[in-house]
Amino acid sequence: MRFARYLVGGEVSYGMVDGTFVEPLLDVSSVADLLERGLEHRADPVPIADVRLLPPVPLVRNPFCVGWNYDDHFAEGAAARGTDVAPPDHPTYFTKATTSIIGPADVITRHADVTDSLDWEVELAVVIGQPGTNIAEAEAMNHVLGFTIANDVSARNVQREHGGQWFRGKSLDATSPLGPWIVTPDELDHLETRPIRCRVNGEVLQDAVLGDMHFGISRIIAELSRGVSLLAGDVILTGTPSGVGFARTPPHFLNSGDVVESEIAGIGQLRNVVGP
Ligand code: MG
Repeated sequence: MRFARYLVGGEVSYGMVDGTFVEPLLDVSSVADLLERGLEHRADPVPIADVRLLPPVPLVRNPFCVGWNYDDHFAEGAAARGTDVAPPDHPTYFTKATTSIIGPADVITRHADVTDSLDWEVELAVVIGQPGTNIAEAEAMNHVLGFTIANDVSARNVQREHGGQWFRGKSLDATSPLGPWIVTPDELDHLETRPIRCRVNGEVLQDAVLGDMHFGISRIIAELSRGVSLLAGDVILTGTPSGVGFARTPPHFLNSGDVVESEIAGIGQLRNVVGP
């Protein structure tokens, strides 16, 4: 199944995607509602072309993120910084502000007064359904409602200027698309073989498969939930593959008018223009 959240006639709705239509789910306004009330009450289908897709979950708090989760991205970052360090033994977690998140076709705010180095990072995002704490790795997938796509757009100068950590550089308002919908795990067999790509102005700049992740989804959930409750509707970005702009020769950053397309086979695509 595919669940979308969207705006139509000024109202936010949840719906189940069926081809080019979405069937509104009545009385559902959160992931918890979706789990409790399910699909019982539906209204007449609406063409997706007639709605504005929103991030597929109302963010209950900052999305969690994992840094350095593809070996080739870890290596390109270390090379660009001129450092020689071993990959981490445990997933590296951080968060980004809810106000950085935009819909799958929304404009990415350029923030030219704040950053000269706005960069792309396509990522698989996991949406938590069943809440839990101290989740065993073998049980982790039972807590996943589904998967969606994120672009963890990052202002590299801001990232470097504030202690070399990630939060502020990845939290600029209205920069990071999420969507286009949540796809449940039963629709995504052989997840590890599925391509993940980012194109900028039609040029493929990131191109990997989900199986290239260093820490798998179950490990990421299990370690994050040790002593930290995961809530229904939590979003976890699972890291980006190589090909980001700061590590390229010469470095390549986003500018106004650029078109960023983020896709994962079997889920869909985000398409976002960088604003003025
Ligand atoms: Mg990232």
